[in-house]
This record gives sequence, C-alpha cells and structure tokens, in this order.
Amino acid sequence: MTELLSNFLAGRWQNGSGAGTELIDPVLGTPLVRVDAGGLDLAEAFAFARQEGGSALRKLSYRQRGALLAEVGKVLQAGRDAYYEIATANSGTVKNDTAVDIDGAFFTLGSYAKMGESLGDRHHLPDGDSARLGKDPLFQSQHMLTPTRGVALFINAFNFPAWGLWEKAAPALLSGVPVIIKPATATAWLTQRMVQDVVNAGVLPAGALSVICGSSTGLLDQLQPFDVVSFTGSAETAGVIRSHPAVTQRSVRVNIEADSLNSALLLPDASTEALELLAKEVAREMTVKSGQKCTAIRRVLVPQALYAQAAEAISARLAKTTVGNPRNEAVRMGALINRAQLNTVLEGLAQLKTEAEVLHDGAAHALVDADPALACCLGPTLLGLRTAEASDASRHVHDTEVFGPVATLLPYRDIEHALALVRRGQGSLVTSLYGSDPAALARVALELADSHGRVHIISPDVAALHTGHGNVMPQSLHGGPGRAGGGEELGGLRALNFYHRRSALQASTAVLAQLFPVSA
Ligand code: NAP
Repeated sequence: MTELLSNFLAGRWQNGSGAGTELIDPVLGTPLVRVDAGGLDLAEAFAFARQEGGSALRKLSYRQRGALLAEVGKVLQAGRDAYYEIATANSGTVKNDTAVDIDGAFFTLGSYAKMGESLGDRHHLPDGDSARLGKDPLFQSQHMLTPTRGVALFINAFNFPAWGLWEKAAPALLSGVPVIIKPATATAWLTQRMVQDVVNAGVLPAGALSVICGSSTGLLDQLQPFDVVSFTGSAETAGVIRSHPAVTQRSVRVNIEADSLNSALLLPDASTEALELLAKEVAREMTVKSGQKCTAIRRVLVPQALYAQAAEAISARLAKTTVGNPRNEAVRMGALINRAQLNTVLEGLAQLKTEAEVLHDGAAHALVDADPALACCLGPTLLGLRTAEASDASRHVHDTEVFGPVATLLPYRDIEHALALVRRGQGSLVTSLYGSDPAALARVALELADSHGRVHIISPDVAALHTGHGNVMPQSLHGGPGRAGGGEELGGLRALNFYHRRSALQASTAVLAQLFPVSA
C-alpha cells in the first residue's frame, strides 16, 4: 500500500477515513501516494482558520506579513530538490517545465514579500483620495480597504500544484486572510508537501494555512458571507461553484479562472523576423508542460499569403521536440497528467481534425525511454484550416479547448477578419501580437484589450527581452473576461483587492487623519 497523505486542518494533521485515491506516475504507471478527505470535520477546520488564523494575521502589518512570505519562500527554497522529484514522478514534466511551476511559485512569493515591505506598517489601506461632501470641506468621504474577516478557499487545477497555490496564497496572506487549499486530486502531492514543509517550519501563525487533499465534497457548504473562494479549473466545475448557495445566497465573493482559447496573431505585412518570433513562441507554447497551460496558444492567426510559410516554420521547430520520459536528459517534453487527460486530449484532437488538416503530426514522434502502452505522452500536433473561408466556417477550433500539445493555424483575409476570428474565443486570458510596426501593434492591441486579460506584444526590439506569451508574471494581471471565467489574479497590488472590503468613511477631516496619518 502506498503512503496516505495527511490533511492539515484545525491546526493538526488528520488522515481521511477512506481508502483514498491513488496518484500515479504518468510515465511509468507506478502508484505513488494516496489522498483522502473522507470524514474530516470541515466545520471545525473553517472556524479554526477564520478565528485563529484570521485574527493572528490581522494583528500583523503588511510589512510583517510580507516578511512571513519571505520566510515561507526560504523554507520552500530548501525543499526545492524534493519538489522537483515529486513533480517528475507525479506530473511527468521535464526540468524546464517543472521550473515554470516551482520556481515560478518562488518568484511570485518573493514579489509579494517585497510588496508587503513597500506597504509598510499599516493595517488597512486608503483607496483613492478623500472627497468633499458639501460646501464645507470639514466633512469628507474617504474610501478604504480592510482585510475581509473570513477564510480564502482555493480550489485548484492539476497543472500548477506549486505556483497555483502560491500565486493565490501570497496576496491572500499578505492581505491578512487565512488560506484553505484544496489541490486537484491528480497532483495533490506537491501542494501537500509544500504546505507540510511550511507548517513544520512554524513560520505562519496557527490556522493561517490548511490543506485538504481529495474530494471537494462539502467544502463549499462551509462558506460564510465574508469568505472568498478562488477557483481554477474547467468551465463546467466553475458553473457548479457559481450556482452554489454560498455564492447565490450568501454573497461569498468568487474568482473564476477557467478555460480559454488563447490566440497568437501575426499582423499583416509582417517581416520574416516577426514570423520567426511567432513560430518560436507557438512551438514553445505547444510543448511547455505538454500544452497543459491555461494560457497556452490554441489558435494561431496568420495572413492567408503566409499560411504555408508559417506552417513550415512552426512544424520545423516541433519536429525537433523529443518526447518521453522526463528523467532522460535528451527529452524536451514529458507527459500529460494521466490516462484520463490523454484520452480527453485525443478526443478533442479527433474533433478538431473533422475541420482541420494535420500540418505536423504528434503521432509521428517516437517516445524516448518510455513505453507507449504505459506512458501518457503525446507528440505536439499542429493543425491548420488552409483557407480564410475555412477559418470562418470552423466551429470546434474556436470552441474546444484541447488541453494538450495541440494548436491550429488559421489564415485570415485582412486585419478586420483577424480581429473577428480572435473574438470568437469569447474572451481569453491572453493574446499575443507579432509585428514590426509599433503604431499597427498598438492599434490592434487596443482593439483586443477589452476581450483579454493580457495582451502580449512582440516586436523585434523585445525579441530577447519578452517574458513569453504563456508566462504569468506577478506584476501583470492574470485572468480574462467571458469564457475565460471573468476572474482577476495577480497584477501586483491589484491582487489584494479580492481579499479586502472597500468601505466609504464619511467623517470630519480630524477623524480621517487618525485613520490615514500623512506619514503612513
Ligand atoms: P476541474 O476538473 O474543473 O478541476 C478543478 C478543481 O475543481 C479540482 O481541484 C477538482 O477536484 C475540483 N472540483 C471538481 N468538481 C468539483 C465540485 N463539484 N465542486 C468543487 N470543486 C470541484 O479542472 P481540471 O481538469 O483540474 O483543470 C483543467 C482545466 O482548468 C482546463 O480547462 C484549464 O483551462 C483550466 N485552467 C485554467 C487556468 C486559469 O488560470 N484560467 C489555469 C489552469 C487550468 P478533483 O481534482 O478532486 O476532482
């Protein structure tokens, strides 16, 4: 029997009462550990986090809480090697892809630790300037932000067990709000180990951080009016959360990061240099974490006249991708997370193929050091629609998010047509633009900003500097309108808004000066 991972709630380690769900190595097929959340006293856990964790965190200033994040970062740095091993075994990722998750988590934590320092010794934040309410300037209105006195419940997706926890927990803890994390079952191990290390190091107050691995049953029922829930995952589960009475009746604040048909757009009259930049980024996005990134490029739009050239440039890069066992140094792309995910990707691919031609076939990649009967590995596949009319007529390409190493090339007639095609994603996390004319890039960015959380603009001058289409930087907003879930995460200090309540204080300037001394 494999080890049963413990849950940490109400300030103590507790095992679920069931047999547990086994986590499997997606390359070797071997069982790793088990998780179970059966029989846990969730009411006690939520109350403990709210009362003990919340009040201890709120006693600290932003600067002190920022220092705690720095301490958490140090503890996690010390466990880095063990985390890499867990990721290799449980997520089947090569080192570079593991880094996106683990080192991305460290970077995000470090960024919020510094932001805490910059906020100083305050316990609440001003929101804008004060405004006179009448002729006499003595009576004014000042908006302020105070930490919510609830708990932050995180329900996360399988693809970022490390970053997915800390990109949410860093702004929550910095805001003074305790965290309960429920990782996706398939990859719960890394999240659980990180929480275990932080808890054992004793750097956070009791109740500030809890982890529940296994079934989500009953979690949402615990939520009370001042709690918040932040969800990352499929649109289908997002719908379940949105319609839960906690949200519909108790006004629990909810943030949703769901699936997204992200695009990359090569502008008309693009230079060969710009086309090469697009090809490089598309190939990278398709293969990093085997395309299991919510921000990955799914639709690639190019002028009709450049369709063949773009197909060739992207395919040439994909052909060099070695796929297989991430433990083998020659391998550049590891596995999908499990058999169920592989089957879902294959089904989605079959659906897209009813509309699109195959430009580069992932099935042609022989697996390196991995048994095709066991390993959940799949080579990258580039599909294409050949004509601008086919780009219009296609339905699945604009609707079906294949969460794997798959993208589709779509030719367009003119920029208006390209914009219309991008918008058929109905709101995405990110689009990237490739071109050499700053004025044209700025015009297109303005057209697409309202339907995207992030517009990543690449011109040859930033070729060696840019942070990547799919890389989520803590300084920039992560989230997208419409189909992408309508959520907002990160974006520097903007992330703190979700964990604070905004109130208008109407008082004499003398009272307001008490709350916001000029030196603060
Ligand atoms: P999922 O099946 O929706 O699961 C996400 C989380 O929800 C898991 O922790 C899951 O727990 C939990 N869950 C399942 N049913 C639930 C319910 N009825 N009530 C409460 N929680 C429930 O999604 P996934 O397959 O893990 O993730 C892939 C999807 O996530 C993709 O569509 C991808 O686009 C999206 N994603 C979006 C972002 C973003 O930032 N926008 C980032 C990453 C992924 P169990 O694992 O225990 O079932």
